[in-house]
Amino acid sequence: MPCFRCGRVQEDPPQGKPSPWKRAVLGGEQVLVCPECQRAHPDWNSGVETCPRCGSASVSLKLGLHVCSRCGNDWE
Ligand SMILES: [Zn+2]
Ligand SMILES: [Zn+2]
Repeated sequence: MPCFRCGRVQEDPPQGKPSPWKRAVLGGEQVLVCPECQRAHPDWNSGVETCPRCGSASVSLKLGLHVCSRCGNDWE
C-alpha cells in the first residue's frame, strides 16, 4: 500500500526495526503515511479516526473492525 499523501511505496524496514510508516483510518479506509510526510506535515493525522478510549490515531482496519494499535481497543 502506498503513502496516501505522496504515493511512495513502502520499503521493507531494516531487520528487527519497526516500520516508521504509520497506519491510520481516513474516511473508513485504511491508509499509510510515510515518514517524510509525517515530518513534512505534522498535522497529517487531522481528520483521521482516533481511538475513543486512548485517542491514538494509530488505528488499523481488521475484518471491518477498527483496532487501536496502542491500547488494543476495537470498535465498529
Ligand atoms: Zn508520503
Ligand atoms: Zn486506543
